Parts: sequence; C-alpha cells; structure tokens
Amino acid sequence: MNTPPPDDTRDAESRRAEQLRRLREMLDAVLPTNPFYGAKMAVAGVTQGQDVDSFDAYARLPFTTKGELSEDQDEAPPYGTNLTYPSPQYVRMHQTSGTTGSPLRWLDTEESWSWFGACWADVFGAAGVDGSDRVFFPFSFGPFIGFWTAYEGARRIGAMALPGGAMSSEQRVRAIVEHKATVVVSTPTYALRLAEVAAEAGVDLASSDVRVTIHAGEPGASIPGTKRRIDEAWGATCFDHAGATEVGAWGFECEAHAGMHLNEAEFICEVIEPDTGDPADEGELVLTNLGRLGMPVIRYRTGDHVRLAAGPCPCGRTYRRIQGGVIGRIDDALLVRGVVVFPSAVESIVRRFPAVGEFAIHAQRHGELDQLTVQIESEAAADSEATTDAVAAALREALGLRVSVESVAVGSLPRFDLKARRVTDHRQQTHD
Ligand SMILES: [Zn+2]
Repeated sequence: MNTPPPDDTRDAESRRAEQLRRLREMLDAVLPTNPFYGAKMAVAGVTQGQDVDSFDAYARLPFTTKGELSEDQDEAPPYGTNLTYPSPQYVRMHQTSGTTGSPLRWLDTEESWSWFGACWADVFGAAGVDGSDRVFFPFSFGPFIGFWTAYEGARRIGAMALPGGAMSSEQRVRAIVEHKATVVVSTPTYALRLAEVAAEAGVDLASSDVRVTIHAGEPGASIPGTKRRIDEAWGATCFDHAGATEVGAWGFECEAHAGMHLNEAEFICEVIEPDTGDPADEGELVLTNLGRLGMPVIRYRTGDHVRLAAGPCPCGRTYRRIQGGVIGRIDDALLVRGVVVFPSAVESIVRRFPAVGEFAIHAQRHGELDQLTVQIESEAAADSEATTDAVAAALREALGLRVSVESVAVGSLPRFDLKARRVTDHRQQTHD
C-alpha cells in the first residue's frame, strides 16, 4: 500500500481546526460579493468568517438544498446568483445530468477548476495511480461534468490521457488494448458493458495492461458482487469514487478497500437524519466544499444516503469512511409495502448469481398492493427457473419482502454508457 500524503493523516483535532480556518477564509471571500450566500447567511446572522467561531456555530448555519439552487437559477437564469466573482473570471460551465428535474448549471473559475482537479488527483493517488499510468476515458465529453474533472486530475498527476469519445464500445475496447491503457474510468455499469462487448468481439480484457478501474456515478463498485465481476472481467482492481457537479469530487476508495473515504481536507462532511437534521451514523450526507469559492456550496444536502464506518482505516488516512460507498439517492429509494428498498440492495443480491447478466427493477401497484418485480437476463436458459427461484429467495431474505423475479432473454434489457436507469416506478407514472 502507498504511504498517504501527510495532510491525509492529521489527527481529528488538527483536521477540524484546519477545516474551520478554511471555512472562515472562504466566508470572508464569498459573503461580501455572492448574492445567494450573502443573503442566506445574513438571515442566519453570519456576515463574515469570524461569525463562525466553532463547530457549534457551524451546525447552526442553514442547510442548502438542490431545490433552492434550482429555484435561484430559474429566477435569475441561466446561472443564478450563487456567484462570487464577475462573469469574466469563470472558465468552465457544466450541468447536472438532470435525471431528476431540470439540470443545475455550475460555473468554475480557473482556481476552482484547479481545486476540482486536485481532488481528482487525490482519487488517483489513493488508487495507486501515478504519472507512469495511461488513463482511458471511454465516453464523449458533454456538458455533464462526469469525468471532465478526472481528465483534469490525470493532467495534474502527469498521467497520459487517452480519449475514447465518438467510438463504439468495441472500438473502445480495442483502443484500450492497443494503447496499453493501465487505468479506465467509467460508471460501473459501463465497465461491465465494455467487458460484455469485449467477450463478444473475442478481446481478452483480463490479459490487457489495465490494472486499475475507477468508477463513479452509481454505487456498483462498492457492491461486492458487482466489484468482483468488474475485477474478474478486467483482470484489474476496481475502486469506487463519488462526486457531484455542484459539490466536487468528495469521496475515494484507498487500496485497503475498507469503505469510501470522505475527503475531509477539502470538504466539511456531516451525516444527518433527513427528517430532523440531527447528526446520525446513517442518513443523508451534507457537505461544504472549502476550495470552490467561485460557486460554493455550504451545508449542502447531497441527497446521498450513506452509513459511516467505525474505526480507523488500515491505510493510515484519518478521513472518515462510508461503509459500502453511497448506498443510493434518497429520492431513488422505493417504498414497497412499508419497506424502504434501495436499488443497490437489489443489485447486491442479483450480482451474486454468476448466471445473471443485466437486470431491471419495476415497482407496480396491483389493486391496493405494491409489488416489486425484478427482471433478470439469465444465461443458462435450461436452468432459468432454478435461477429465478434462487434470486427470489435471496431477495426475500435480504429485503424482508416478497419479490417477483422474471427471467428475460439475454440482450433484451437496455444497456447504458453512463448511469444505468434500471428502476421504473410505475406507481408514480399512473398517479402523475
Ligand atoms: Zn484507507
């Protein structure tokens, strides 16, 4: 295992003192000129850094929600009023993927873009990736921030960046082999898709030079069954990572694979009970980024459901960790007959079965009763009944819920290049 950089191993007290110092510096820079946070914090009695002299004072700051930011952008299009500097200082524009509601647009200055890239350099560093690596980016770069910042991070660590845009999946697989890529970054879903395409095309990915894959956008890389599949298909070690357009690259996995570290050098991280806002070990992740002054977020409710891990990490980093990465988006949790089901919980069961390929989840209402149906692509047609029965039994045991499992033809479910959309809640559609 690599030795972590000194800043990663501060003791808790020095970490918190440094966070508070950075926060106050940020408030002094942001509040006088940023209309959104200037007004929001003034209501809370905070007009300058010294007004937040402790973590108790920090805990009294109001939360920021995505809805609030969206509303601000609707009222003052196209970028809203969460802007600290005059517009010529901004050099980058990205937007959220807009899977829920209208996309949020986000601007970065040279300084904040550089900060975002440095956070990605930490992601690479923790995975043991350095300047001798060649990183393949298997997608076209669009307005979604996706892996733009990974590209910036690769530049910062001096790795070679191999662009894979405007290619078919098969062309990408061949390019990965031909250019001797050592690192691939993608969603976990797409890593499995590329492996499937490689197998169909007779390309042996496991014997390629790829030794590390880094995944974001979905929980998969922290789900044991999914991780094992990716590791085996690629003959490499996969790492989980988490970030968001409006927040930054806030989480990474180290070589100990003991949960995802929160980057507490660059973010103040809290976990709260979503209904009360009280601190919790499991609940919604709330973040303040400390280095993105052009368009910051302060006590931002990420909508990510996480569970804090106990005890120190064997890697030596003192950043806290979340067990199993991001468990899911709070908005994506399905309430079925009183049971809260995160799609990642279904995935963690389904991926245990080697005969099962792609899958899809449907929530329906039959009369008064909610029903969860999981469709699976099962390779062994002759045994498909045994497989569906086994998957149904495992789901029932894990979720405490009777789930109907249907076998469908291999290749019949949709495939995805970025984030998968495997869940359809038919109940919402009928009520809209
Ligand atoms: Zn660690």
